[in-house]
This record gives sequence, structure tokens and C-alpha cells, in this order.
Amino acid sequence: MTPAAVARRAPAAAHRSFASRGVAAAASRRSGVGVGATPTIRALHSRAVASEIAPADLAPPSGADLHGFELVREEYVAEYDAKAFLFKHLKTGAEVMSLSNDDENKCFGVTFRTPPENSTGIPHILEHSVLCGSRKYPIKEPFVELIKGSLNTFLNAMTYPDRTCYPVASCNLQDFKNLVDVYLDAVFHPNCMTNEKTFLQEGWHYELDDKDAEMTFKGVVFNEMKGVYSSPDSVLATACQQALFPDNTYGVDSGGDPRVIPDLSFQEFQEFHGKFYHPSNARMWFYGDDDVSDRLKLLNDFLDEFDKKDVDSSIATQPFFTEPRRVVKSYIAGEGEEQQKSFVQVNWLLNDGPFDVETGLAVGFLDNLLLGSPAAPLRMALEESGLGEAIVGWGLEDELRQPTFAIGLKGVAKEDVPKVEALIEATIAKIAEEGFTREAIDSSVNTIEFSMRENNTGRFPRGLSLMLRSLSAWLYEKDPFQPLRFEGPLADLKAKMAAGDVFKPLLKKLLIDNAHKVTVELNPDATLASKQEADEKTRIAEYRAGLSPEDIERVVAETEELKTLQETPDSPEATACVPTLEIGDIPKTSKAIPSETSSIGETTVLTHDLFTNDILYAEHLMVSERRARGGGFATTLSSRSVFRFVWFRAVFLGRPDARTCAPYTTPAVVFR
Ligand SMILES: [Zn+2]
Repeated sequence: MTPAAVARRAPAAAHRSFASRGVAAAASRRSGVGVGATPTIRALHSRAVASEIAPADLAPPSGADLHGFELVREEYVAEYDAKAFLFKHLKTGAEVMSLSNDDENKCFGVTFRTPPENSTGIPHILEHSVLCGSRKYPIKEPFVELIKGSLNTFLNAMTYPDRTCYPVASCNLQDFKNLVDVYLDAVFHPNCMTNEKTFLQEGWHYELDDKDAEMTFKGVVFNEMKGVYSSPDSVLATACQQALFPDNTYGVDSGGDPRVIPDLSFQEFQEFHGKFYHPSNARMWFYGDDDVSDRLKLLNDFLDEFDKKDVDSSIATQPFFTEPRRVVKSYIAGEGEEQQKSFVQVNWLLNDGPFDVETGLAVGFLDNLLLGSPAAPLRMALEESGLGEAIVGWGLEDELRQPTFAIGLKGVAKEDVPKVEALIEATIAKIAEEGFTREAIDSSVNTIEFSMRENNTGRFPRGLSLMLRSLSAWLYEKDPFQPLRFEGPLADLKAKMAAGDVFKPLLKKLLIDNAHKVTVELNPDATLASKQEADEKTRIAEYRAGLSPEDIERVVAETEELKTLQETPDSPEATACVPTLEIGDIPKTSKAIPSETSSIGETTVLTHDLFTNDILYAEHLMVSERRARGGGFATTLSSRSVFRFVWFRAVFLGRPDARTCAPYTTPAVVFR
């Protein structure tokens, strides 16, 4: 996903485990990413001082230091001043991308391809369950214990439509190693494979407090997905994805449909783990300033006890439609006026596989041109139409195997649905005819290029944002290095843009002459909630009718047992297995930021020589509000060295509001 698109939306229907449990502050990639986020000077300070060896000169480990891995490829990624190695574990075939640079915010992630065949929510329930104790950490919730004494900057798990990701990040080396160890043990040796109670608790079970009480379905994921299915926005997103991909794994819900979740058996759950949570189906990622050979050793300690296995987890391609389609569905109408109106979203399937980097950039620019700012024509046409309350869809989605584009409105009067569709069609046709202005194109290119260079992911660790980007190709057997390299493709694309109009033909191809188009209309249904509830009750009643008095007693006993288990905390002796940081694990000195003092005229200049990817970050403390002087200062600084972009902030001293200051940023100012 381009940074611009990332800024506007969360990843493709990823269900986050910790976020839903409120354990960790799940820093969404939405927060402060890319466009729209004010870049902060933190971007300068968060990077550590360069280690003795420049990333470009870093040699790969060899011999015994490879710890059972072979080096497949190495490349210096200038875009992020990182040395990247691709390793393969000889015994299991597990792949590891290892990036080394001076970022102290170390990241690790293990990702399995987990394409579901139905909407029972197996991947999602499994993601929850593996975190409930493992071979080395046999307690209820090792991560809850770990977090108490951890300095992690990120800890979460995400279920996507086709993969399950377990990423962690920390600036402290020992903490980082602890987190990786607990995660690897969780995914490869979870206790939930033998303890059915975890499945009942996290997935679903029949609950019956006593023999005369009402029997119900309960379960963490079951309840979570009931919430999701009562949100019209979520229902729309799921309906659109399923309508675009009726023939492959994206046609079902990896999160789980509450009407289907109770079809899942413990045996199917065990088999799913056995099949997909295997090193031969794993893609692992390391990033930061820690030692490469140590990374491999840590992994080999886990992988070595497995043997290579053929895992068929490939994601089938959705064939293109020959005719546009239309889907009409309903959602549970709510109390408010907004929940009494319709949604309409037009969706297109854009390609038969991931875009190459250059095409991906071009489509990213096009997406930004259409929707990226309040003045963007498609956005403006919809927002000013008065036909709906807010935009839905929000353009390009390129995290799954085949990229899509979607746009529509919510809060639409039923009779206006055709008008919205006609407006979208007419606006796109008009733009394809007239094209974009030079200024709009330059502005979009600058915005996205600045975003890519800065890679300011807010609280979300940089290394993880690169992991997700790399996975967008790696997961589909494409080159994992390719999504990290944009310099060459960007230069090629700029040359093409200088030679002719790139966007008009692209728009025509992707959104006008493309028959794989589905319009999804979602209407409120005031009776849907009671209908669904009645269906659920009937299902439970039928089950109950088949139970003997002894069976009923068993369900009551199991309900009680599960509740007792949930309410009993682990003993301090048991939780002692979870590693904690010692005082000696915390460095006594903080890393120094290189600093040089010089002057320009009467102005003292403090310069910090750090890798900032062709962006000059300048902050000017001024006693007056004379902008010209501030601008001149930035220009003078940038002329000392070659920078593509200047991020500039003026801080006015001596004013009552000096501390809050009045920043003006210039990400669009390009110095060549
Ligand atoms: Zn969840």
C-alpha cells in the first residue's frame, strides 16, 4: 500500500488480537502515517548513531555463524540505508529477511500464509489461542506477564484474509530477544493444540449455567465477530471483498462469520495449525541494529527440531469477470438516522497479481490525485454532491494478492443510490477525458515521494512498516526486496510522466474499460437483528433437544469448569517462567546524537549528521515573525548539501505562545 493510501485506512480487514483485548496499545498504521500527519522532529531523534560499520559495508555471516541457514541473496537498500540479506533455513526451508541499519527500534515478525476455506474464523481463533500459553511458557497469558516488565514499542498479532502475522519491536536488545523467544514458542508449540479449553474459550462453546437456564453461544472471537457484524461499515467491507473475489480464499471471512463459527470443530482447528504453522510455510523478518548471526541462532534454536514439509498455502488468482456485477445486501438498522440509510460502493479488481513497483507507484499517484486531498476531483465530486454523509471505500487497496480500487458513499437515501453510481461513473469519465493539471500531478508526486523517503510511520515502528511492504510481494512468491526499492522505478516513472500523460490511459484501463466491477448496495433492515437472533436460538434449541439429561449436566459442568479456569490467575511460581529484564539489561548511557556547531551570519547552526533519506529537517528559532528570513535560512541550509525535500518549522521566541509555536511545513518544496 502506498503511504498515501496507508494514511487513510487500516490494513485489509486485519483482526488484531491485543487491540481487541486492550492489552497493548495497538498502534494502528493509520496513526500519523504519511500524508496528513505533521512530520515531527522525532523523525530525526529516533534514529541511533551509526554503528562502526556502515550498513552498506556489512558482510553476511559465514560458516558456523550461519547457524543452519544459507545466504540466498544480499543487497544494499540505499532507500533506507540498510543492508538486506535473504536467508533460507537448510533443514526446513524457512525464509528470513534480515535488514541491518542504525535503527535501534529493532523489529521481528513471523508470518504464516493461512488461507481459510470457509468462514469459521479458524485463522482468527488460532491467532488468539496460540497466545494462551506454550511449551516453554505454560501459563494462561504469557504476553500479559511479559508486558508488565517489557520495554516493547510494539506487540500485536494480526489476522489478514490470507496470512497471520506476529510482529514485535523493542529498542532494548534483551527485551527484544525475550519477545522473539516467547512469540516463536507460542506459534510453534502452543498449548492450545492439546488443551481444548483454549479453543472453547477463544473460539466458541455452548454456555449453560444450570439445567433450567437458557443455553447460549459464547467465545472471545465469536463475541468479537458479532460486534463486527453489527457494524454496517464492516459488513460493507466484507461484502465488497467477497463480491470482488467470489472464487478464491478472499471470498470467505478469515475473521469468522458468527453464523458459521459454531460449525468449527476442535479437530479442524488442530489440523489447520498442523498444516500452516510450520517453518516451511513461515516468512520471518528482522530489522534494526542487532547482530545478524545472533538472529539466525535464535531462529535455528526453534527451527532445528522440524523437518521440511510441502505446504500448499498458495493463494489462487481470482479470474476476471466478463460483465460488471451488482450485489444488494442488508445490514442491521440502528437507532440513529444515519443507520437508517443506504451504502453504495463501486469496486474494481485491478490486476491478476501484485503490481510491479513502477505501476504500483503510478497507481498510488493516481489514487492520491483522485482522492488524496479535499480538492481531489473524485473526492470533491462526492463530498459536494449532497447525496451522502461520508465517503466509503477510499480508493486503492494493494496489500492482498490482487490490488483493488473502491469508492462510494454512506448515509445515502435509498432512491439516490443510482445517482451516486452515475456520479462516480461520470466523474471518472470526465477526469479520464480532461486529465489532471501539472500542479496537481507535481503535488501528488511530491507528497507521496516525501512520505516514502521520510517513512514516518508515527508510533508504528519503521521496521514493521517495511516488513508489511516487503510481504506484499514476498507472500506471493515475488521478490521481497522489490517493494523496498523505489528510487529506480520512480525515476523511470518520472521520465514517462515528462514524456506524456501517464494517468489518462491508466484511469481508462483500470476503471473504465475494466469489466471486473462490482457495485455493492447495502440497505438497512430493521428486522435483521431479530431474524438472526431467532435463527441462533433455533439452532441452539435443536442441539439441546438432542441432549440427554446426562449431556445437559455435562454442559453445565463444562461451563462451570471454563469459568473457574478463566477466573483463576496463574500462581507466581508459574509466571516466573516468563523472562523479565534485569537492571543490567538497560544501558546506563543513552546513545549520543552527533552534533556540530557552526554559523550562518549571526545565526548559530546546530547540525546533526544522520541518515534522513534526502530530507533536510530544519527548525529555526526566531525572535520575530519574519517568514522570509526563515525561508531563506532553510534555503541556505539546503544549499550546503544536496537534499530533495526540506521539512521546515519556525519557532517564534518571545511570544506568549512561543511554546506551542506556529509551524509551517514545506514538504512540497523541492530543491533539485
Ligand atoms: Zn480478535
